[in-house]
Amino acid sequence: MIYLDHQATTPLAPEAREAMLPWLDGPGGTGFANPHSPYRAGRAAAAAIEVAREQVAALLPPGGRVIFTGSATEALNLAIKGSGARRLAVSAIEHAAVLDTARAVDPQAAILPVDAEGLVDATVDWPDGTELVAVMQVNNEIGTIQPVEALAERARAGGALFLCDAVQGAGKLSPPAGADLIALSAHKLYGPKGIGALWVRDGVGLTPLIHGGGQEQGLRSGTLSPALCAGFGAAAALARSNAATEERHLAALWAEARAALEGFTLNGSAARRWPGNLNLRREGLDVARLMSDLRDIGFSAGSACASGSGRPSHVLQAIGLDARAARGSIRIGFGRYTGMSEVIEACTRMAAAAAAQ
Ligand code: PLP
Repeated sequence: MIYLDHQATTPLAPEAREAMLPWLDGPGGTGFANPHSPYRAGRAAAAAIEVAREQVAALLPPGGRVIFTGSATEALNLAIKGSGARRLAVSAIEHAAVLDTARAVDPQAAILPVDAEGLVDATVDWPDGTELVAVMQVNNEIGTIQPVEALAERARAGGALFLCDAVQGAGKLSPPAGADLIALSAHKLYGPKGIGALWVRDGVGLTPLIHGGGQEQGLRSGTLSPALCAGFGAAAALARSNAATEERHLAALWAEARAALEGFTLNGSAARRWPGNLNLRREGLDVARLMSDLRDIGFSAGSACASGSGRPSHVLQAIGLDARAARGSIRIGFGRYTGMSEVIEACTRMAAAAAAQ
């Protein structure tokens, strides 16, 4: 398979897998120990978790703490529900983990619009009395990079908390300075599935959603997985050290793919976008047919949200596409291990299959 769906998930980095293995011991080993146990094996597992916490924290601003969760979805729920904020403002192109949670807490949540390029205006207004503003760093469907630093500054100046879903930007871009709460997911940065994190600025109080043994600083009970934490930590360290090289690699792939698919129109800003994402539309394109013609290429229909729920994409709607244009859209996502020859082959075949329809 040529895998071009890196916004959905990323392959596990060999280094992350390697870091996980000692904590997947069976009988005869010690790596399976409960990291919350007091004897030596438990303390070793706890120490590995703290190393991983530092590695993840290195992707984030100073002055806060990292709480491991089961996913970014859980981290975002903890941030929104646990903050106690009742009046919310969120961008129109947030992931469902933010949009649906915000609406569950505040059915009247203000929805901050985006322009036709998929960008939130840094001077956008939200209602007086808003207690939490959430805008993502990089959009998962169209790759646009939002002016989160400016928005965070304005939110805080107005007395609101600022939450940033940095799932698609973490380890790639600088962390969103000025945010109070930042959510990450390991599996979007070449770490394992089943673990995320919430960064909480010092002084920001949260109430837990999951009660029990009080692990994770009283904010998230449940036995941590040392293997998942170690994999997340190793992936974070690798992302940090490779960020600049990777961005150049992705920019080269992006340019090649864009040229090969010149008969398509770009969805979202060309300038303010993460080069690992290419979202394109073509008049009258039958995306289901394209996908069935190219079953050995992993890419995504742009029109359906990433959950595969069949809901039309709220992101493509928010940038002004009608249902027909959204239905004719595809999302291609490149990553660290994607080769130029794979991109050329996949995009040449996509262009030919689309033209033959
Ligand atoms: N936020 C964004 C922008 C995402 O792309 C995703 C995953 O698709 C999530 C949140 C949820 O992440 P997780 O799979 O860790 O729950």
